[in-house]
Amino acid sequence: MTEIRTRIAPSPTGDPHVGTAYIALFNRCFAHRHGGKFVLRIEDTDQVRSAEHSEEDILGALKWLGLDWDEGPDLAGDYGPYRQSERSAIYSDHIKILLAKGHAFHCFCSIDRLHQVRREQIENKQQPGYDGHCLQLSQDEIQSKLKSGDKHVIRMKIPRSGECAFNDLLRGEVRIAWEQIDMQVLIKSDGLPTYHFANVVDDHLMAISHVIRGEEWINSVPKHVLLYQYFEWEAPIFCHMPLLRNPDKSKLSKRKNPTSINYYLAMGYLPQAVTNYLGMMGWTMPSGEEKFSIDEMTSSIDLERISLGGPIFDIEKLDWLNGKYIREDLSDDEFVQRFSQWAFSSEKIAAIIPLLKQRVERFSDVANLAQFFISAEVQISVENFDHKSLSAEEMIRILQFSLWRLEGLNEWSRDGIEKCFQDLANKLGLKIRDFLFPLFVAITGNAISISVIESTAILGIDITRSRLRQAIAILGGVSKKAAKNLEKEFKALG
Ligand code: GLU
Repeated sequence: MTEIRTRIAPSPTGDPHVGTAYIALFNRCFAHRHGGKFVLRIEDTDQVRSAEHSEEDILGALKWLGLDWDEGPDLAGDYGPYRQSERSAIYSDHIKILLAKGHAFHCFCSIDRLHQVRREQIENKQQPGYDGHCLQLSQDEIQSKLKSGDKHVIRMKIPRSGECAFNDLLRGEVRIAWEQIDMQVLIKSDGLPTYHFANVVDDHLMAISHVIRGEEWINSVPKHVLLYQYFEWEAPIFCHMPLLRNPDKSKLSKRKNPTSINYYLAMGYLPQAVTNYLGMMGWTMPSGEEKFSIDEMTSSIDLERISLGGPIFDIEKLDWLNGKYIREDLSDDEFVQRFSQWAFSSEKIAAIIPLLKQRVERFSDVANLAQFFISAEVQISVENFDHKSLSAEEMIRILQFSLWRLEGLNEWSRDGIEKCFQDLANKLGLKIRDFLFPLFVAITGNAISISVIESTAILGIDITRSRLRQAIAILGGVSKKAAKNLEKEFKALG
């Protein structure tokens, strides 16, 4: 029997997402159940969106959760490199094979032409997609365009009729009409591969036997299956996991639920409770036991028992489970140790102490002043927002705009945050003192406190986001219509 090899293939383009941990967990358990290997591959071919710190964050977050890997960019392995940006030569060699076999073609169409075609297709109620224009070019035309350095991409050929049928471990046979599949770009004009191309080449070369990933990729399978056929490779077994959902059944999103693993770390959850909870998404232990470790899940995992009903990621349930772990699994000594590691890590203390020193007269002043650093929420109500000139509406605007700006920061730093607040205050025509007032209340719980800029920097984006949201809700919240208007205003600010 071939070795079972699974992988998690995150793109380092943002915060480490709980969805990544959920998929990693099932991949890891399944591979290890069968004595196989769990691989971590970094899919960083999108040079514009990939960020180095995001890769570090993802690796750190998965390790924190106990979801470590057998092969990956930080470990030796026979199938490396495990970072796609280091595999360019492999993709160049492989695209040549498809071009030589006539399965891929050069496309020189301009963006304007592609937009025009798309507009017409939408007007005529046709499926939007590439119209095959460059398939008609002769070899001579192609060669002369390439010689003169014309900008181009490389696309794959797609049958124009019939259906693609493939098997999904959880769904059985899935059929998708080829008409719905676009002639996918495989190599972009910058010479780098797209997700689809690099993903298939790497899954094959890394001998991945089972592709276990989120449901959102199921419509891409026809392209992938076709690439395997074009290369004359055997396709792996596909298993598309149900997407995690908010309690209102919509797709899990950070607008409604904290989705970054860093949030759960910052809020003081135990990693084993978070992984246990993720294991309950779509899966139940044969014994019906709700509390189980990664090892216990590994010894009984059976992908076919995964239920397709959209699993609900419900923080209240996670809180309940986390409490159970704290009570049942931590001795008093362990509690002290884990708690102090979390609350008083040397990094956190080093950042907070200089701020406290400037303000306290006695050690007994510390707790009051610093409690917002180690609390989930701040204890505030609408009265805390009483202000001589700012209305609730204006304060909501300040809080919401600040949140959007902070979310867009490339690098989380004190100076970056200060610039962002200062710039917004200028654009809104507000004195910085007034502008910062609702932020002080939202973030520190008090209108007079430790610098809100320093505090925001220490708390990090995840806790900041949840505090700003809490404050907006206390001030009356934002209706859908108001949110649209705010978004427009925000965009107009530039
Ligand atoms: N890089 C893709 C992602 O970020 C991987 C999807 C897959 O597992 O094929 O989700």
